[in-house]
Amino acid sequence: MKNVLGLLIFLVVACGLGFFVYYQGTSICRNPLDYAIGTVDGRFGIDQNRLLTRVKEAEAVWEKGFTRELFNYQPGSSFKINLVFDERQKQTAEANQSEAGIEISRSMYDQILKEYNQQAASYQVQLNNYNYLVDEFERKLEAYNSKVAAINTRGGATPKEHQVLEAERKYLEDQKKILDSIRAELSSSVLRVNSLGDQVNYLAKQLNIEVDTHNQRFGEAREFDQGEYNGKEINIYQFEGISDLRLVLAHELGHALGIEHVENPKSIMYYLMDKQDIKNPVLSSEDIQAFTKRCSSGNILNFF
Ligand SMILES: [Zn+2]
Repeated sequence: MKNVLGLLIFLVVACGLGFFVYYQGTSICRNPLDYAIGTVDGRFGIDQNRLLTRVKEAEAVWEKGFTRELFNYQPGSSFKINLVFDERQKQTAEANQSEAGIEISRSMYDQILKEYNQQAASYQVQLNNYNYLVDEFERKLEAYNSKVAAINTRGGATPKEHQVLEAERKYLEDQKKILDSIRAELSSSVLRVNSLGDQVNYLAKQLNIEVDTHNQRFGEAREFDQGEYNGKEINIYQFEGISDLRLVLAHELGHALGIEHVENPKSIMYYLMDKQDIKNPVLSSEDIQAFTKRCSSGNILNFF
């Protein structure tokens, strides 16, 4: 008799547990999941209202894929969404700082490169002009020399010829001085252009190093470990900006719907944050199928 009673109590408890699991497991297939905003660490720089706005956007990502409400904001609900500050968000702040540093280096590089291109182009114009003047000078000098040689062969210049030759010689001498000063200017221009070129190369090298270091430290596609759904609440530990937060929330809300990871890298429920459209996240057919399958009758039976 005692054993029978023991068995009965056990059965009642087992059934109760079964019902509870069944209820928890399948109620979201019929009714929206109530949630509330829990604790929001001030170090994220975002308050409860702004978090709620992002949650509602993440909620809309899911609800757009189905014809009914899947989530319902219910202040006081036991299912909470929290922002929990730890090392991960600290690292995000460092990544943002590193990105800002790269932006400064990049704009310095762009500026020097622009200056270099301008100076190099103006040097080229100066050089072409100089070469043209040199050609002209050499032609005139040759003509002058032939004239002098012809006069000498003839036995010397008349006073009138001498006067003309003297004027031409003076003109050529002046031209030579002008060409010498242009050449001196060109030499200092080429030094300036070369020094700017060296700066461009140096900054490009530095920029590449900075970008490589940044990519090594922060650049890999991240697993969705920025947040977690632990069966009772969603904790978000890390996000870079509004879009990032919305995508992480959408992913964790998917887990709260009882969905595991799916295979398509564009899916909200893919295990990596990588190929999703971060600005405009949408459910993939795999995401939709996962929830449909999870709520199909065959799967509900598995919850017993
Ligand atoms: Zn996940």
